[in-house]
Amino acid sequence: MTGKIFNSIFWTAVITNAVTLILVNALNSNNITHCGIFIIAVLTGVISALRMSRKITRPLVEVNPDDPKINYSEINPLINKIRIQKGKIRRQSNEVKSGREQLSLITENMSEGIVIADPRTNILSCNSGALRLLGTESAKVGDSIYILNDSEIFRHCIQDAMGGRNSSCILKTSGGDREIIASPSNITDTINGIVVFIFDVTEKQQLETMRREFTSNVSHELKTPLTTIYGISDMLANGIVKPEDVGQFGQNIRSEAERLIILINDIVSLSKLDENSVPRDDTGTDLYNLAEEVIERLHRSANEKNIKISLSGEHIEFIGNRTVLDEIIYNLCDNAIKYNKVSGHVEVKISHIPTKILITVSDDGMGIPPEHINRIFERFYRVDKSHSRQIKGTGLGLSIVKHGVMYHNGTIRVESTVGKGSAFIVEFPIEKK
Ligand code: ADP
Repeated sequence: MTGKIFNSIFWTAVITNAVTLILVNALNSNNITHCGIFIIAVLTGVISALRMSRKITRPLVEVNPDDPKINYSEINPLINKIRIQKGKIRRQSNEVKSGREQLSLITENMSEGIVIADPRTNILSCNSGALRLLGTESAKVGDSIYILNDSEIFRHCIQDAMGGRNSSCILKTSGGDREIIASPSNITDTINGIVVFIFDVTEKQQLETMRREFTSNVSHELKTPLTTIYGISDMLANGIVKPEDVGQFGQNIRSEAERLIILINDIVSLSKLDENSVPRDDTGTDLYNLAEEVIERLHRSANEKNIKISLSGEHIEFIGNRTVLDEIIYNLCDNAIKYNKVSGHVEVKISHIPTKILITVSDDGMGIPPEHINRIFERFYRVDKSHSRQIKGTGLGLSIVKHGVMYHNGTIRVESTVGKGSAFIVEFPIEKK
């Protein structure tokens, strides 16, 4: 290498000197031949210089700094520096690559959607959660973000974020409700793009709707008896009621007040179950004895309709909350009496199979039409609203039953035939000791 560079410099110097001499001679003599020689000499000089410079640089160009055998003393420091720089660049690019891989691994495993778009609303990154939640498969990097959803409400949300404001909206998709949160990403005053988060809020929205319906139902249910009580007491206070009717009017007030108390008790029971604030008893409850107590309490209403209640099965100890277990059996038996015919039958059975404890309450009453079966556990749902005038009820009984059963990790199912009767079967798992 040293020899090659030395040779190149040597021959360049020789040629340059020769050309300079010819040039001086040519300029001194005023002769055309000399001028021709001068031009040829200049061209020869230029070509030689080019060839020489190429020769000089070729070894440098051909140097491979990664070749460990390379050893040129003049450029070794330079090669070492290049090697160090290359190592640094390699490390940094590996770090960037693994960071990007980690980020994509995290975002790909997120159940939420995340989309990053540039200032022209083109997608820079989009995880599979976003595609799944928005029900599209076709979006890819470089596409417009509106390929994900082209509704007016989504456009507004994105445009707001592009305008520098945090924005959010709820999208109704075929897969459910989605919350979109779009935030601008800006360094100094310029918007560099936006980050869009997509959440599945179907359940949250349903709960919100249920809460709203519940509040409005409770208000309605409380208002009705209170209005009656207010009206009757007003008439009594103004002496409009004939003395012989006072007893009946008093009876009406009592029955409306009773309705209010039942409703409030039901709401309290439900909210305790909702809040999970019901404690679990440490001692077991004998379900057979409990059913016997419940039947005793319902004796009067059963007698009013000449309904016969029978209890069968076995004494089974179950660890749960006695009050909640009582409410479950009470509400099921109460319904079996209320929705039964005169002189009907109600059967309560406590039994078990290897893995489950069963409480079965069956009647031979009016039965439930199949299209209502899935809805009877909803709050305030009553199969026949016109019945609610004749058959007293809040529409909360089976909700309390369902939540009470769920509290004990159990399940409930209904078998019913219109005009023949219904059977409610509660199943509690037997915990292995
Ligand atoms: P309610 O206070 O109206 O009894 P529930 O939540 O206990 O409220 O029951 C909801 C509805 O389910 C009732 O209004 C009734 O229409 C129906 N239902 C419940 N139990 C029976 C049953 N054993 N036989 C027929 N229908 C029933």
